[in-house]
Amino acid sequence: MSAKIISGTEIAAQIREELKKEVAEMKAKYGIVPGLVTILIGKNPASVSYVAGKQKTAHELGFYSIQDDQPDDISESDLIKLIEIYNKDPKIHGILVQLPLPKHINEKKVINTLDPDKDVDCFHPINVGRLMIGGSEANFLPCTPAGIQELILRSGFETSGAEVVVVGRSNIVGKPIANILLQKAKGANATVTVVHTGTKNLEAHCKRAEILIVAAGVPHLVKPEWIKPGACVIDVGVNRVGEKISEKTGKPVPILKGDVDFDKAKEIAGAITPVPGGVGPMTITMLMKNTVTSAKMHAGVR
Ligand code: NAP
Repeated sequence: MSAKIISGTEIAAQIREELKKEVAEMKAKYGIVPGLVTILIGKNPASVSYVAGKQKTAHELGFYSIQDDQPDDISESDLIKLIEIYNKDPKIHGILVQLPLPKHINEKKVINTLDPDKDVDCFHPINVGRLMIGGSEANFLPCTPAGIQELILRSGFETSGAEVVVVGRSNIVGKPIANILLQKAKGANATVTVVHTGTKNLEAHCKRAEILIVAAGVPHLVKPEWIKPGACVIDVGVNRVGEKISEKTGKPVPILKGDVDFDKAKEIAGAITPVPGGVGPMTITMLMKNTVTSAKMHAGVR
């Protein structure tokens, strides 16, 4: 039987509708408008397009939003001063510095300058620590992992007591999703195994996963026979494997492949995310959710 396809596009749209209503209510009830600033250094085409997507969504949801474009030769100290201004700006509740930064700027220093209570990407070490502690300590969840959790829950999978295997231990996906799902909390409480390049028998671990989350960045790393029948498979990988001409625009577009062989895996899994259209659309949406949370937190109405 073919798996249920978990559409990140549809679930993200559903969450955005919920956020839109919440923002309208916040405005009407408390006069609060969530404020987001996206800081873009230079003109890297991928970064320009990511930031444009974030700004577009913020506008659609009724946020106060600013895009602050800075030249790629901005000094580290000037960028830090700029962040400090937004840290103090009461209209801004979320500050997003688009990564990667030019080589002459120390990324860690920049992240550490962010007010942790406005760090809606959840990269500041204080927020990473809060995530580890869990419960009410964690104001924000990092966007991609939070999106993965929503995909699992909104597809009707039970995490409590489930065998979860996460392939990959990066700071932005593998480690945080493992931390989120192992918390003693609703929508979590799973038994989590994290595997990586040092793992002895990747296949054996994947085979026992009721929920398999793959974030390795290796096209089709996970073979269909590694999937437990009926499992929920979340494929985070986005790998450019070539280019094709778009039928719509006539222009070249990248060919994307996930870390899982989708066509074959969907005949075994119970549910699976496609690439593209799975985890991808959730990331921006969860950034918006964090900004709404931050606005409420700052107004003391959370
Ligand atoms: P990353 O920092 O490169 O980390 C990859 C992880 O996978 C590492 O922990 C690595 O292990 C592990 N790994 C790589 N090859 C492996 C193998 N053959 N066997 C077992 N483990 C292996 O990558 P990332 O930033 O987490 O991203 C992973 C993928 O997700 C990428 O394709 C990325 O584009 C995608 N992504 C998508 C979104 C989105 O859709 N919004 C967001 C973030 C990332 P070691 O630690 O041992 O090296």
